Amino acid sequence: MQDISKNIKRIQVKIDDMKKQLGRAEEEITLVAVTKTHSVEAMDLALGQGICHIGENKVQEAMRKLPMLKDQSAKFHFIGHLQSNKINQLLSLKPYLIQSIDSLYLADKLNRALGRTNRTQDILIQVNTTEEEQKTGVNFANAEELIFKIASLSSLRVRGLMTIGKLHPNPEISRPYFRQLKELFFKIRPEIPEGWDYLSMGMSHDWQIALEEGSNMLRIGSAIFGERHYGEDR
Ligand SMILES: *Cc1c(COP(=O)(O)O)cnc(C)c1O
Repeated sequence: MQDISKNIKRIQVKIDDMKKQLGRAEEEITLVAVTKTHSVEAMDLALGQGICHIGENKVQEAMRKLPMLKDQSAKFHFIGHLQSNKINQLLSLKPYLIQSIDSLYLADKLNRALGRTNRTQDILIQVNTTEEEQKTGVNFANAEELIFKIASLSSLRVRGLMTIGKLHPNPEISRPYFRQLKELFFKIRPEIPEGWDYLSMGMSHDWQIALEEGSNMLRIGSAIFGERHYGEDR
């Protein structure tokens, strides 16, 4: 547990160093601490160490843990596969950003649920850049069309793109996929004048490559909190 603050400091120092090297010192890089499977205690600790953004991938788990946090101003990112029957529960948690929208079906349902409450919701489009079958996300070839369709829905504000690199021990493998998404991000940018500003790429094992390739939102779990243990009731 005491490693958490050390890990956060180490990552933040490394991010600042890299920003300077990359000539991006003035740019804001958002660090999302991914807290899935980790305890409320661990989350409180991270939030006391300068973390403001937390990410969870299961609605049920977020419903249980978020109300218990000491710091209720933490910005909550939903980063997992969203089932349409969980939309209302998710919205009750007032997410800062839903990063995992990958179909018009889901976007439509979300848009309708929001329309009933007069709210707007910031989202990212998740792109399956690596085209691995077990992954969610819209295929790269269909991404552009989907982005514009979703951008026209009145209660959603599309803030940018998210992807997951290859789960491969050598993070260099993911560099071309990150680069491809960055190119799409900048191609779309002039077409969406307001709020198109997040490029969410990079996890514990590949965030440095993602940052080099233009990411401005890193989602880091195990490098902060240690290994995840599934199947326990936490
Ligand atoms: C779990 C998860 C992460 C964090 O993974 P780590 O390898 O632990 O950093 C990031 N993004 C998504 C979508 C995740 O599900």
